[in-house]
Amino acid sequence: MIELQNLNKVYQTKDGPFYALRNLTLHIESGEFVVVMGRSGCGKSTLLNVLGLIDSFENGVYLWNGTDIQKADRNQRSKIRLSEIGYIYQSYNLIDELNCIDNVELTMGYAGIKRAFRRSRAKELLNRVGLLDKAKSFPQELSGGQQQRVAIARAISNHPKVILADEPTGNLDYKTGIQVMDLLKHLNNEGITIVMVTHDQELSSYASRVITMSDGVISHSN
Ligand code: ADP
Ligand code: MG
Repeated sequence: MIELQNLNKVYQTKDGPFYALRNLTLHIESGEFVVVMGRSGCGKSTLLNVLGLIDSFENGVYLWNGTDIQKADRNQRSKIRLSEIGYIYQSYNLIDELNCIDNVELTMGYAGIKRAFRRSRAKELLNRVGLLDKAKSFPQELSGGQQQRVAIARAISNHPKVILADEPTGNLDYKTGIQVMDLLKHLNNEGITIVMVTHDQELSSYASRVITMSDGVISHSN
């Protein structure tokens, strides 16, 4: 599914080049639930952004289902971003000006799905995350946990193969965090590969594999 070989991600800083990912090699199989841990600043978000084709990288190889990302053109990359990857963030990243159902429809719209179909699928998805009654509510009218569930509905709208989640429970209380984790676990059971960054040691119980990073390298993987 995902194959990184000797990948480097370098930021140019005033003190010279800074290697946020160093010679990183990682293989993720379809169906895994990978939890990425490690101290703040060790490169977890950078790794997720590279995996999600949001950030570029300097050298090394990234194969996505056999597609060499460095050799893929813009269209191929944006197609993968839109229809094969779902993104979930700590701060939900919903559009404040759009109500919940319009938020869920957003990425389907980018993918060119017809409006009537988008609507009915968005309703289905909101129902799935238990928030159909909030379809017309705006993000600010929802709790953090509810907003994250809307974000999850949006993330799965185009049937992604992989979900990338960067501290999805970081802003949530324990009980709400568990609801979000259970939802992710269900999606994983349905075959979606999950790569999730967290600080919370307890959440590693959801993982089929835990990866620990330090200073841009994987220091441990079970
Ligand atoms: P984590 O998510 O594990 O806390 P990040 O991946 O966000 O860490 O950052 C890894 C390292 O790269 C940090 O030392 C951070 O300061 C550095 N970094 C991140 N983004 C940039 C940037 N745009 N320019 C320079 N350095 C950056
Ligand atoms: Mg981070």
